[in-house]
Amino acid sequence: VTHVPVVIVGAGPTGVAAATLVAQFDVECLLLDRWDSVYPQPRAVHVDDEVCRILAQLGIADQFMALSRPGRGLRLLDHRHRVLAEFDRSATRSVHGYPQANMFDQPELEELLRANLARHPAATLRGGVRVTGVVQHSPQRVRVEYTDIASGEEHAVEAAYVLGCDGANSVVRACAGARMNDLGFQQRWLVVDIRTETELGQWDGVHQVCSTTRAGTYMRLGASRHRWEFRLRDEERAEDFAALPALRGLISPWVGAVADERLELVRVAEYTFRAQVADHWRRDRVFLLGDAAHLTPPFIGQGMGAGLRDAMNLAWKLADALSGASPENALDSYQAEREPHARAMIQLARGVGVAMTAGGWFGDLLRRAALPRLGLLPGLRRRITSSETPALKVGPRQRRRGIVGTLCPNPVLTNGKRFDDIVGNRFAVVSAAPLDERAAAVVARRAAVPVFAEPGGELAAWLGRASAAVVRPDRVVARIERPGALRGTRPPAP
Ligand SMILES: Cc1cc2nc3c(=O)[nH]c(=O)nc-3n(C[C@H](O)[C@H](O)[C@H](O)COP(=O)(O)OP(=O)(O)OC[C@H]3O[C@@H](n4cnc5c(N)ncnc54)[C@H](O)[C@@H]3O)c2cc1C
Repeated sequence: VTHVPVVIVGAGPTGVAAATLVAQFDVECLLLDRWDSVYPQPRAVHVDDEVCRILAQLGIADQFMALSRPGRGLRLLDHRHRVLAEFDRSATRSVHGYPQANMFDQPELEELLRANLARHPAATLRGGVRVTGVVQHSPQRVRVEYTDIASGEEHAVEAAYVLGCDGANSVVRACAGARMNDLGFQQRWLVVDIRTETELGQWDGVHQVCSTTRAGTYMRLGASRHRWEFRLRDEERAEDFAALPALRGLISPWVGAVADERLELVRVAEYTFRAQVADHWRRDRVFLLGDAAHLTPPFIGQGMGAGLRDAMNLAWKLADALSGASPENALDSYQAEREPHARAMIQLARGVGVAMTAGGWFGDLLRRAALPRLGLLPGLRRRITSSETPALKVGPRQRRRGIVGTLCPNPVLTNGKRFDDIVGNRFAVVSAAPLDERAAAVVARRAAVPVFAEPGGELAAWLGRASAAVVRPDRVVARIERPGALRGTRPPAP
């Protein structure tokens, strides 16, 4: 049986991202998937600016920007399509260096991710195999059993760590004895993708129709591609809407009189949207990432992004554990940091789903009265408009203080390069003054990149009263230094 340090089950966006990030630390990994090529059904259509930084770390920022389209924000409409509220997002670059909302087509992104993975010699992708079992048979070894789908031949490979990135029906999750906890949301929705060269002349953001009788979402994905999602009634099936004449009643508010010949129906599919989180994301040396660990209704477009965030959080920790730079139990911080974040995003998506659909005629009345006023509450407007997601609780005591646990900004520095391009997948120590002993020790021990925060610059303003910040390879602030405050104490391991 061959041995590979890391075996990744599932080559969806989460698995390919994890493989790329692990390979960037020169850790050899084997990626196994049922299919030889990417899953062709379009699903995810949106990522925020934080997730764009992960795509940049993977090495595909420019290509992604070329195939995506900045979104303008969110418009809430009533059942007669009258605007109830509008929340703008900036289409220009944010503190993270990318537009706050980016619309795209998931199969196109997955093609990019796979082509990019091929440039990393430490990663090997093997398609056409079904993983059937994952067994930890010794403290340091996990065996992954798989079958070649074409020949029926059975194989096994041994790994130090296994990452289950095998989606909603994860075999790895079952083998690890983990179970999904339900967060109380289940709705059937119809998903429609249409291509047309005709300009529909719609507002260029996400339209959410809040209605008990027919909740729906519309957004433009590219020059000629458009996505609709409609909540299905109990008696309805996707087959009832398989052709354009049947869909007219749903899409006519946006397509108007555009003739059928000018609308190409790319696909119509039914999905059951759920809100679920796995009870364990780690069992010994087996980890769960992406949809295998959490499922969200897609109303705020964060499902795939959560999988990429998982990969970014875990990859450097795995590399550390394998090289001996950190003890094995440091890997427990993966679930401790990621689960509360994923839960918060799922609850937000669930809340948007309920607000869009609940309450019968009384709900419709309430929405008409309340939603136009939402934007008047500054805190709430900021929450809906901002793309900033919750800070992580980092460190041994799982606390969050000031900028600790948040993402470091990504400004262009004096040499004309962005922070992320300079730092790559290393630690960074951002300081406004010459490094004190503690900060210098981190730079030496971690081969961290020292980054000087120019007075009056974006990084200096962000540091505030801190003299330095230690930023992890996933851009999360591990800790801050206050001028002179802790001199003489032993530096804690970031
Ligand atoms: C309608 C819809 C809209 C969405 N919109 C958004 C959005 O706007 N933004 C967003 O971020 N997310 C969105 N999502 C969610 C997003 O599509 C998923 O979260 C994302 O695809 C999950 O990626 P993954 O890699 O974790 O899992 P998957 O994409 O499910 O990939 C799992 C992989 O594992 C493989 N696999 C499974 N079992 C085995 C096995 N036993 N052996 C070998 N291989 C196996 C599969 O072949 C697959 O390639 C949306 C989803 C839907 C349905």
